[in-house]
Amino acid sequence: KASMENILWRRSMQMRAEQQTWQESPEGRKMLEFRSSLPAYKEKEAILSAISQNQVVIISGETGCGKTTQIPQFILESEIESARGAMCSIICTQPRRISAMTVSERIAAERGELLGETVGYKVRLEGVKGRDTHLLFCTTGILLRRLLIDRNLKGITHVIVDEIHERGINEDFLLIVLKDLIPRRPELRLILMSATLDAELFSSYFGGAPLVHIPGFTYPVRTHFLENILEMSGYRLTPDNQIDDYGQERTWKMNKQAPRKRKSQIASAVEDALRAADFKEFSPVTQESLSCWNPDCIGFNLIEHILCHICENERPGAVLVFMTGWDDINSLKDKLQCHPILGNTSRVLLLACHGSMASTEQRLIFDKPEDGVRKIVLATNIAETSITIDDVVYVIDCGKAKETSYDALNNTPCLLPTWISKVSARQRRGRAGRVQPGECYHLYPRCVYDAFADYQLPEILRTPLQSLCLQIKSLKLGSISEFLSRALQSPELLAVQKAIEYLKIIGALDESENLTVLGRYLTMLPMEPKLGKMLILGATLNCLEPILTIVAGLSVRDPFLTPLDKKDLADAAKAHFSRDYSDHLALVRAYEGWRDAERDLAGYEYCWKNFLSAQSMKAIDSLRREFYSLLKDTGLVDSNNTIYNSWSYDEHLLRGIICYGLYPGICSVLHNEKSFSLKTMEDGQVLLHSNSINARDSRIPYPWLIFNEKIKVNSVFLRDSTAISDSVLLLFGGTISKGEVDGHLKMLGGYLEFFMSPTIAEMYRSLRREL
Ligand code: ADP
Ligand code: MG
Repeated sequence: KASMENILWRRSMQMRAEQQTWQESPEGRKMLEFRSSLPAYKEKEAILSAISQNQVVIISGETGCGKTTQIPQFILESEIESARGAMCSIICTQPRRISAMTVSERIAAERGELLGETVGYKVRLEGVKGRDTHLLFCTTGILLRRLLIDRNLKGITHVIVDEIHERGINEDFLLIVLKDLIPRRPELRLILMSATLDAELFSSYFGGAPLVHIPGFTYPVRTHFLENILEMSGYRLTPDNQIDDYGQERTWKMNKQAPRKRKSQIASAVEDALRAADFKEFSPVTQESLSCWNPDCIGFNLIEHILCHICENERPGAVLVFMTGWDDINSLKDKLQCHPILGNTSRVLLLACHGSMASTEQRLIFDKPEDGVRKIVLATNIAETSITIDDVVYVIDCGKAKETSYDALNNTPCLLPTWISKVSARQRRGRAGRVQPGECYHLYPRCVYDAFADYQLPEILRTPLQSLCLQIKSLKLGSISEFLSRALQSPELLAVQKAIEYLKIIGALDESENLTVLGRYLTMLPMEPKLGKMLILGATLNCLEPILTIVAGLSVRDPFLTPLDKKDLADAAKAHFSRDYSDHLALVRAYEGWRDAERDLAGYEYCWKNFLSAQSMKAIDSLRREFYSLLKDTGLVDSNNTIYNSWSYDEHLLRGIICYGLYPGICSVLHNEKSFSLKTMEDGQVLLHSNSINARDSRIPYPWLIFNEKIKVNSVFLRDSTAISDSVLLLFGGTISKGEVDGHLKMLGGYLEFFMSPTIAEMYRSLRREL
C-alpha cells in the first residue's frame, strides 16, 4: 500500500512539473493570456475557496464567461499544484454529447495536450480517455449509467453538473441521486453550474449551498422585432381581429402605406412569414394562441432577406440563425445555397450547428473565416448556451424550439416546435453582443415576446416518465413515486401512475413494481421502451435487418413526404411500397430501395421520384448502425450472429414483432357496409392520419391495427399503423410469460398452424421451449 501511495505521489509531482513547463512556454503563456481575459478567471480564487469550504457550490454566470472550459480546469490545476493531481478525478456532465466532445477538446488544447491525456470525454458509443485522464467530460446519461454499477462513485473527487438551468430530465434526476449520495461521501465535492440567475432554487434544494456569481460583460445589442423589421421598409403592422369565412379570427394585416407594386422585398417576405406563422389574435396574446403557430414554416423568405440585407449593407461579423430543428436547418441551407449572394461560397460560409453534426463541421464553426467572407451559422438552441461562437455580431431568432410535451391524461407525447421562454429569447439576443455591439432580429412581434413564459417548464413536468421510471428501478432507488416526490419540482402523480402502469403492461415491471428480466434489458437500451422491446425480440428471432429499419424510422421524422400540391402523387408513391396494410413494412421497402439506389449513387433521384426525404433516409441509415452496436454492447447480439436469415422477412413474424413493441397501442377495426371505423379503449372513436397507407383502403382485412403514436388535434389521429390478426395480437400483445404462453396455446389449440405461417409456428415453439 505504501508503494502505491509512493507511485501516486511521484506521478503527482510529475504532473505538476509538466503543467509548469507548459504554462511557462510561449504557447502556454498565450493561452493563459486568453484565459485570463474571461470573466470566470477573475473569480478563480473565490470559486476555489468556496469549493474547498463547502461540499456543494452553485456557480452562475452568463454564457461565454468561461464556466464550462475554465472551472473544471481551475479545480484540476489547483489539485495538480497541491501535488494531488494523480489522486483527483473530476467528472463534468453535459446535457449533449456534442458539447462534451468540443469542450474536452478545447480544454486539452488550452493545456497543450492531446485529448485523452489528462482530459478526456465519454459519450454513448464513443469516448477518448486514457489511464491518466483526471478530468472527464461525459453526458449526464453516462454518469447515470456509471451510478448503476458504482452507487457511491468510488474514487471520484469532484462532480460538476453543467447547464442545470436547462432543467433537462436527466439533470433533474441526477440531482436527486446526488443529493442522496453526498451524506454518504462527505469528501466528495459537488459543483452545479447555471447560465441564469435562478440559481437560488438550486441553492435551497441543497440546504442553502453558497452561490458564486460571475459578473459578465456584454456589448449593447440593438433589438428588432417583426414590426421594426417591417418598418425598415416603410410598412406598419397593426392587429386586426376580423372573423373570416371559416370562423377563425384573422390576425395581422399589412397596413399598406405604399402602393402595392413598390412593396419592398422585406415587406412581402414579412407578409409570407405572417401568413405561414398564422399569428392569431395577439391582443391579448395567451399561451393557447401561441400554440396555434404553424411549425413547418418560420418564414424562410424573411430569413433570406434579412441575411441578404446583412451581407449587402452591414459591417463584418458572423450571423447566427436560431432555427427549430435539424430538418428546418437543412431545408433552409438547401434554399440558401441556391441564392445568388448567399450561395456564393467566395463571399459566404454557410454552416449548420446541431446535435448530430460531423466533427469536421464542428471545428469550422469556431474558426474565423477569411477576410471578406461572411460566416452564417444555422443552429438549433444548442448555440443558445452550450456552444459559444466568438465572432457573432448578428442574431436571427425564429422564436421557436423543439420541445417535448406530454398529455398525461391520454398518455400522449408530442415533440413540437413551441415558443421559447423570455429567458431563452434574451439568451439568444445576448449572443450578438459578445465581441462588439450587435443586432438581433426577432421574427415575431413585440407583443408575442411579451406573452412568452418567463422560464421554460422543466422537462420532467412535460415528458412521459416511462424511461425515467425504468432507470429509477434499475438504480434500485426504491419506490418510484416516493423517489420522484423528492425532485426539484415533482411531476404530477397521474403522470407517474400512468408510467408505472404502462411499464407493467409491457412487462418491464412486475406487479410489485420490480424490474423483470425484460425490464433489465430495456434499461440497457437508451431509447423508448417500446423501441427497445422491438429490437430485443427482433434480435432474439433473427429479424434485425428489417426491425432495425423500423425502429430507426420511428426515431426520425416521417421520411414519406407529402407536398400539399402533389398529395395524390405522393400517396401513390407510398402505396407502391405497401401491399400488406402496414406503414412500417412500407418503410422497410422504401429504405431498402433507397439503399440499393444509394450504392449506385442514385439515392437522391430515388428519393425525388418516390417522395422520400433523403435526409431522413440518411438518418435512418446511421441510426441503424448505432442501434446495432448498442445491441452488441448489451450482449443481445454477438458479432457472429447474422442479422438476417431465411425467415427474417416473414411478414407474419414481422407483424408479431411490431405488435410486441407497440402494444398496448392497439385499436380495433369495425367494418360496416362500405367502410370501417376504428376504436381504442381509452379514446373511443379514432381516425387515421391521411398519410397512412391504411387510410386509403375502404376495407382492412384484419381485425386490429397496432400503432406507434396517436396525436390529439380535434379528434385523435393515429399515424403509422400495421394491421394484425387475432393470433398475432394474442401471441405478441402484452407480455410473454410462461403462464400466458401456455394459456394462449391452449386457447389456440390446434388452430395454431392454421392461423399462422409455418415459420412463425416454428419460432413460437422454440421460444416456448426457451421460456
Ligand atoms: P460558458 O460555459 O460560461 O458558457 P465556455 O467555457 O464554454 O463558457 O467558453 C468560454 C470562452 O472560451 C468562449 O467565450 C470562447 O471564447 C472560448 N471557447 C470555448 N470553446 C471554444 C472552442 N472550441 N474553440 C475556441 N474557443 C472556445
Ligand atoms: Mg457552458
